[in-house]
Amino acid sequence: MEPFSFTAGDSPLLISIPHAGIALTPEVADGLSDAARPLPDTDWHIPQLYAFAHSLGASMLAATYSRFVIDLNRPADDQPLYTTATTGLYPDVLFDGTPAFQPGKEPRPAQRKAYLDTIWHPYHQKIQQELAQIKQRHGYALLFDAHSIASCIPRLFDGTLPDLNLGTNNSASCDANIEQALITVCETQEQWRWVLNGRFTGGYITRAYGLPAQHQHALQLELAQCNYMRETLPFDWQEEKASALQTMLKKIITTFMTTAERLYH
Ligand SMILES: [Zn+2]
Repeated sequence: MEPFSFTAGDSPLLISIPHAGIALTPEVADGLSDAARPLPDTDWHIPQLYAFAHSLGASMLAATYSRFVIDLNRPADDQPLYTTATTGLYPDVLFDGTPAFQPGKEPRPAQRKAYLDTIWHPYHQKIQQELAQIKQRHGYALLFDAHSIASCIPRLFDGTLPDLNLGTNNSASCDANIEQALITVCETQEQWRWVLNGRFTGGYITRAYGLPAQHQHALQLELAQCNYMRETLPFDWQEEKASALQTMLKKIITTFMTTAERLYH
């Protein structure tokens, strides 16, 4: 199976969706615990939620495999991203701390190394390749890393997560004008609670490729899932809520694109 799906657009924007995949390798499928088998920590329906961005000219890269096989938004050396509780390159626990695998049924180190080579590296090579091509064509490149998570996970954060969690690696992953324009878009509405660089400041993808000095600007958006889907089984899409959220997502994405365009033209 291909490690990702990709559709090319003609704008400077690449949308990366590293956690929506649900494919499993045979060893992972065989080893998952009962609690992990429904894949509760998936960023459900994110490709569907952002499908509107095709018409804005965005290129879209979406992972095929589940994060329980390998987490594409963690560094290849598995250094922890957060000083608080987190999950690693090969998650051994669910977000709530429950074991992800039956005892002794985790994939073996050689299998995990193969996931790194055949899933993690190809996804990252594709990001790098696309950003380079976009820069060649437009002079700059924009990367939007799209995520979602259940709004209440006591092990990871207190209380209920804001609806929109923007991450710019503490202002390092994009130009200050872009960040300010995004703040303005959020401040000028009251429907959605939002935070910039709160619990989620941006994972490995945002940190590795958000390099404004190299004309690469990255933004992570971690969405609270309650605004477009059911957060418990069967994790189904909720159309009415989703379409309201998409209106806001469209504003965020067009602001990202138009502000960057003004910077370079
Ligand atoms: Zn995610």
